[in-house]
Amino acid sequence: MNFTEIISQQRDFFASHQTKDIAFRKQQLRKLKGILKANEEALYSAIYKDFKKSKFDTYSTEISFLYSEIDFFLKNLDKLSKPKRVATNLANLWGTSRLHKEPLGVCLIVGAWNYPYQLTLLPMITAMAAGNTCIIKPSDLATHSSSAIAKVINENFPSEYLKVVETDIAQTSELLKNRFDKIFFTGSTQVGKIYHQAAAKYLTPITLELGGKSPAIVTKNANLKVAAKRIVWGKFINAGQTCIAPDYIYVEQSIKDKFLQHVFEYLKTFDYKEESEHYTQIINERHFDRLVDLIDTSKIIYGGKTNKETKFIEPTIMDTITWSDKAMQEEIFGPVLPVLTFTDFSEVIKEIAKNEKPLAAYLFSDEKSEQQSFLQDISFGGGCINDVVMHLSNENLPFGGIGNSGMGNYHGTFGLDTFSHTKAVLKRATWGEPNIKYPPYSSDKLKWIKKLLG
Ligand code: NAD
Repeated sequence: MNFTEIISQQRDFFASHQTKDIAFRKQQLRKLKGILKANEEALYSAIYKDFKKSKFDTYSTEISFLYSEIDFFLKNLDKLSKPKRVATNLANLWGTSRLHKEPLGVCLIVGAWNYPYQLTLLPMITAMAAGNTCIIKPSDLATHSSSAIAKVINENFPSEYLKVVETDIAQTSELLKNRFDKIFFTGSTQVGKIYHQAAAKYLTPITLELGGKSPAIVTKNANLKVAAKRIVWGKFINAGQTCIAPDYIYVEQSIKDKFLQHVFEYLKTFDYKEESEHYTQIINERHFDRLVDLIDTSKIIYGGKTNKETKFIEPTIMDTITWSDKAMQEEIFGPVLPVLTFTDFSEVIKEIAKNEKPLAAYLFSDEKSEQQSFLQDISFGGGCINDVVMHLSNENLPFGGIGNSGMGNYHGTFGLDTFSHTKAVLKRATWGEPNIKYPPYSSDKLKWIKKLLG
């Protein structure tokens, strides 16, 4: 595939200014929504082939996000893309100041495999809304989903506007040598660094949506039943292969047994069985082996069944875990849940603060002082109090990490900013100008300039 040619075609198309037209952007978003709707069944069947992800999960955690992001922009784009007037300072009287959002140009969007539709098409929708062209590279691990994305986009949009490329690592490395106007990457911290380096060559703005070990803290001041239900759901949806899934639980000693009983109840109710149509597989054998290796069989208190042939790992809870256990050395990204215990809340906060900043953090507690410490004393991309994962679903909240879990964010207006440049423009009147900034200077002028500039 000749990447240089595609990029150059996209550059020419961008230079034609067609994508700058708001009506064009909205028309393309409407068209995309229609195409996605018409191809929903094909998308469901492709992802099922990749890792047995159910229709329910695919709709609720991927496709519905795409529709609501499109609807958000159809409803708000006119208003959001209008130049925004801001106050003008005294030194610039008489003048007006405005923020003009402009698209960046040719964007490269690279997605991870675990939510293959959401992680490629949601940034693409945002980039389209902002008036850009896109080259989209889905992960090569979810091959059926990747082909479905390529078919849906490449058969319905000209490659000078949107182009899905299905590249292996070597081809992706070649692709990355090119100059883009924006790179938006979702994936691991390790690979994110490769993209950051590639972006540095041309000073290309980059957004990195990465991973990390996201804690869920449960204190004695929590509603334990609700905590158990929400944590079990958020951890085992997609078989734990979710960037913001709770990676491990930190539970207060005095309520641990009671809390874990609720966890077991919900694990049974939610029926995560090998033969269940609603429980996802592990993506491939490499990840299956990696996850099995993280399980310390002597510490299992629930689950532990695995089947390499069907890439099934039962939800597995391990107790009496410490920071030196294998499962605590890397992001788990699978249905294995270590439980750590504490007696002093402030120690938990200190422990978490010592580690790399996680993509998400969750606290279950109705105690104000614990909530305050959680918010003030640890840094994380985003999170919830008394829930897990759901902050992602509110388009009024930015979604992104910090430090090793990423840089930049998207969703709703935050995404529009991510895929735009905000041009700051001061428009001056040509009358009524005081002469004090111009030479020759005098002590009188200095006095006035001090008053004016503060
Ligand atoms: P990954 O880093 O292995 O791959 C991500 C993308 O980079 C894929 O498209 C892949 O084909 C490409 N890639 C891999 N190696 C490359 C290389 N050497 N050169 C160029 N491109 C390369 O990640 P993954 O396994 O697909 O996803 C799992 C990771 O992603 C986890 O760490 C998870 O937490 C993170 N993640 C983050 C988010 C988020 O929104 N922050 C969402 C999903 C997953």
